Amino acid sequence: MKDISTKLLVIGGGPGGYVAAIRAGQLGIPTVLVEGERLGGTCLTIGCIPSKALIHAAHEFERAQHQAGGSPLGIRVQSPSLDIAQTVRWKEGIVHRLSGGVGALLRKAGVQVVKGWAHIEDGKTVRVEPADGEAVRVRCEHLLLATGSAPVELPMLPFGGPVVSSTGALSPETLPRRLVVVGAGYIGLELGMAYRKLGADVAVVEAAQRILPGYDEELTQPVLDALERSGVVLHLGCSVQGYDAQHGVRVRSARADEFALPADRVLVAVGRKPCTTGFGMESLQLDMAGRFVAVDAQCRTSMRNVWAIGDLTGDPMLAHRAMAQGEVVAEVIAGKARRFEPMAIPAVCFTDPEVVVVGRTPGEARAAGLDCIDAAFPFAANGRAMTLEATKGFVRVVARRDNHLIVGWQAVGQGVAELSAAFTLSIEMGARLEDVAGTIHAHPTLGEAVQEAALRALGHAIHI
Ligand SMILES: Cc1cc2nc3c(=O)[nH]c(=O)nc-3n(C[C@H](O)[C@H](O)[C@H](O)COP(=O)(O)OP(=O)(O)OC[C@H]3O[C@@H](n4cnc5c(N)ncnc54)[C@H](O)[C@@H]3O)c2cc1C
Repeated sequence: MKDISTKLLVIGGGPGGYVAAIRAGQLGIPTVLVEGERLGGTCLTIGCIPSKALIHAAHEFERAQHQAGGSPLGIRVQSPSLDIAQTVRWKEGIVHRLSGGVGALLRKAGVQVVKGWAHIEDGKTVRVEPADGEAVRVRCEHLLLATGSAPVELPMLPFGGPVVSSTGALSPETLPRRLVVVGAGYIGLELGMAYRKLGADVAVVEAAQRILPGYDEELTQPVLDALERSGVVLHLGCSVQGYDAQHGVRVRSARADEFALPADRVLVAVGRKPCTTGFGMESLQLDMAGRFVAVDAQCRTSMRNVWAIGDLTGDPMLAHRAMAQGEVVAEVIAGKARRFEPMAIPAVCFTDPEVVVVGRTPGEARAAGLDCIDAAFPFAANGRAMTLEATKGFVRVVARRDNHLIVGWQAVGQGVAELSAAFTLSIEMGARLEDVAGTIHAHPTLGEAVQEAALRALGHAIHI
């Protein structure tokens, strides 16, 4: 067995692990990164990027169909068709470029990448078993766990054949005629909506009484309206009992009625679980916070010089949180004074319309005992939204009543994901309503709704 010694060993090449390794390399820390699959992790290879690629392809296909049906813009096209194999090849091309790009960035930073599955022997020693070739033992001063998360499987609906996780749904060989999505969280709805646009009949089964249970109802209403308009059938307050090819998905409603939803494919998207077992992590006996590894504000675990970041360490399980933590750990190991204590972590749901939440909603502000004002500006009153045929939705701001400090932003609408940067920046910078209201926003843009929401909270919106 080959032996390597390094200062920092990172297990997992997802957005948490690869960012930590690149930053550590930049800071001159000898670093080894171990990855069992592809560089880029869930996010680049089977998560954020491929899902947004599929959503975009589905959107373009729907638009072409819309135009073939007589567009009000005067555009006329022949009836479009879809080559799903080519769509998947195009998506894979993006994934391949990005994963290769991560490899190049790691090389540039001087990070040594070891391909294979890591097995922890103790807090300073890891054995790596490559798929082919000699095993490697890596000894390190600092061990960073960034092993990410995996889809939750339902015992009555195990993955296999027509029952797929988000990973399978992102690389379809064919399109299903009838898709049942189990789970109306952001992954289930993003993919369910995309499949509907690609032409499948889609039904969604959700145990809670509402879609996107993590978001407030005012925000999710435009998404609910769009789902209904598009013909996605929702079964809320329902639980799945099982699946067989003949009857489809067996479902039980809150009133205990049972019925079957015919399906030739089932997407189970009921959440993700941290990868904490199967690679010897248990032997370290780290303190846990429920099912996650417990970390402090510098991402230290309960064991000296063992660190953890990303999905492994809890909610929100989002790529940009993992990246930010990765950077913090590299800098702390390099001796810099850093802490992971963001004022707000943006969350975006790439449904159509998109939903963005940054900081506190009015309900969360109330629950935290804050006396806040909130105001919304509708895209129906925004010129740019009209030119984009995107007048559904609004931007909402939440600010303290006493000093107008902004504590939250929410938006729902087409393209609002891009507003998340302005929202997060204003909260991190400690902006007040007057700061945003007094900033010149380019015309005509959707961003004008941000300024108008702040003006409206101050009682003097101009365009409504
Ligand atoms: C369909 C889908 C869509 C998503 N969309 C978004 C989005 O739009 N925005 C967003 O912010 N987040 C999104 N996410 C979540 C995002 O992908 C994760 O939050 C993010 O990837 C977590 O990063 P990570 O570095 O913690 O772990 P991961 O990205 O999961 O990376 C962990 C890596 O560690 C490797 N690994 C694990 N164990 C070992 C071992 N023992 N040895 C070697 N290697 C190992 C794995 O192979 C993997 O590559 C989405 C997820 C899914 C599934």
